[in-house]
Amino acid sequence: MISSETERYPELREAVTGLCAEFGDEYWRRLDDDREYPEAFVKALTEAGWLAALIPEEYGGTGLGVAEASVILEQINRCGGNAGACHAQMYTMGTILRHGSNQQKTKFLPAIAAGELRLQAFGVTEPNTGSDTTKLRTRADLRGDHYEINGEKVWTSRVQHSDLMLLLARTTPLEEVQRKSEGLSVFLVDLRQASADQLQINPIQTMMNHETNQVFFNGLEVPKENLIGEEGRGFRYILDGMNAERVLIAAECIGDGYWFVQRARDYAGERVVFGRPIGQNQGIQFPIARAYISLRSADLMRYQAADLFDRGKPCGAEANMSKLLAADASWEAANVALQTHGGFGFARDYDVERKFRETRLYQVAPISTNLILSYVAEHVLQLPRSY
Ligand SMILES: Cc1cc2nc3c(=O)[nH]c(=O)nc-3n(C[C@H](O)[C@H](O)[C@H](O)COP(=O)(O)OP(=O)(O)OC[C@H]3O[C@@H](n4cnc5c(N)ncnc54)[C@H](O)[C@@H]3O)c2cc1C
Repeated sequence: MISSETERYPELREAVTGLCAEFGDEYWRRLDDDREYPEAFVKALTEAGWLAALIPEEYGGTGLGVAEASVILEQINRCGGNAGACHAQMYTMGTILRHGSNQQKTKFLPAIAAGELRLQAFGVTEPNTGSDTTKLRTRADLRGDHYEINGEKVWTSRVQHSDLMLLLARTTPLEEVQRKSEGLSVFLVDLRQASADQLQINPIQTMMNHETNQVFFNGLEVPKENLIGEEGRGFRYILDGMNAERVLIAAECIGDGYWFVQRARDYAGERVVFGRPIGQNQGIQFPIARAYISLRSADLMRYQAADLFDRGKPCGAEANMSKLLAADASWEAANVALQTHGGFGFARDYDVERKFRETRLYQVAPISTNLILSYVAEHVLQLPRSY
């Protein structure tokens, strides 16, 4: 594998790579063909404790930082897998950890750490409001001992492979709050208890193998004790979790990027055209070298953001910048790998086209590149607000 002297956590990388070796290219290719969830891989990862990396030891997790957790996800993608199938099991619980009551923490976190409960679905995005999250329309109305949920979400991923879902809904109408970020609340929805008429799940087919859905709530009853933190402060709680998510997904992009560079480098060295390896031509070499340089610089920003997060320092700008740089670098590397492979880049058996489809997502989700640029322009450079 392409590696550098500066790479951190070599033992962690080796251990994750060992697990991934049992789930090679053919495994991921077959799942992609059948649009199947990587159940065996997720089970193995859970049993090895990797998905409980961010849960403190007192709740049965391994108590690692975001830097180490990011290396676990990076390594999965670097080995040719797709951590997007399960990455949210690592970080969605952070909302309970940071804002939940003691009772919620002791009830849910040990079970999540042990893999007995999956909390890897979160419903934030809605079809009508998209990136304009504070305008979301799903309502949660208090009715005695429970909230009644009505509305719809879109792109709710992994919901069919999750026991619980974190849900952001409006508890006070937009017209009645002073700031649009107020009046939103976070709930833990127990999907196992929801009846089919109260919760309807419609799968969405996408260009890659990713279990994602449109979800309709028709008077779904959620017990009052499943409200996380204070009513009306949910938007802040969701934002708090986003920095970790950005860094972890940046790491997955870096993993993808190294995978593409590795494959491009290997193929360029082997493929002989006009009597010499194509990699002898600088027209082939330079884009691969440039993609590698982009990855290495994105990697630096990933660690800067992760280290700030792990020291409890503000890291909104760095987390966003690491996500943008890493998503751009993986996409650059994906294009280079495809081009280097010529026609074979399009052949399913080479896996380049599969990873190419998978890594493209990160220009758009969990936050689109434009929204990151806007964040940096306004919050870091103090340019006027555009929305
Ligand atoms: C496969 C997949 C899985 C997902 N999983 C989840 C999940 O599990 N849970 C969840 O809640 N969400 C999930 N999402 C949703 C994802 O977070 C959103 O797709 C993303 O945030 C963009 O929102 P949107 O699709 O509504 O785009 P829109 O908000 O409609 O934007 C469309 C385009 O316009 C651009 N744009 C919008 N406003 C501006 C502006 N002011 N200036 C410049 N450009 C602008 C955007 O950048 C984007 O490129 C997932 C999405 C996908 C595709």
